[in-house]
Amino acid sequence: MLGYDASYQNDYSDNDLLSTAKSGSLTLLTADEELYRTATFRGIQSFLVRGKTEPERLAELAERYKLRLEIDTSKSRCPTCGSAIKETPKEDLEKMIPPATFKVYKTFWVCTNPSCAKIYWQGSHWKKIEQTLQTAKKILDLKSNPPSS
Ligand SMILES: [Zn+2]
Repeated sequence: MLGYDASYQNDYSDNDLLSTAKSGSLTLLTADEELYRTATFRGIQSFLVRGKTEPERLAELAERYKLRLEIDTSKSRCPTCGSAIKETPKEDLEKMIPPATFKVYKTFWVCTNPSCAKIYWQGSHWKKIEQTLQTAKKILDLKSNPPSS
């Protein structure tokens, strides 16, 4: 959603993760210290995520990789497949959206990958996403500007 190319696999073995990261020149993000050490030993870019909460983890990544913690929907990618998403007039989607959703929301995005083509809107989960980002930003601010005593 933040516009960074990311893939999440929780059914891969450590070896799958390591070979995927290596062959795609990807950075492996993991909370598994042993996996992190193995990756580093094999020359694979890796980052050990230590945060206990989602905002803490996000703040760590934002600090390490200078990520913007802002959602710019023109840069967002499909959370399902990683393709670009495109704002689409809701009238074009009427038959594909539940009527109540169609009535309540104004703006919709469609994944540009035809084999995915998922439709997104800023539904009830949106508030939680915004809160997570705000909390992550506060944590990041405190890291870069610790309060002076
Ligand atoms: Zn998609």
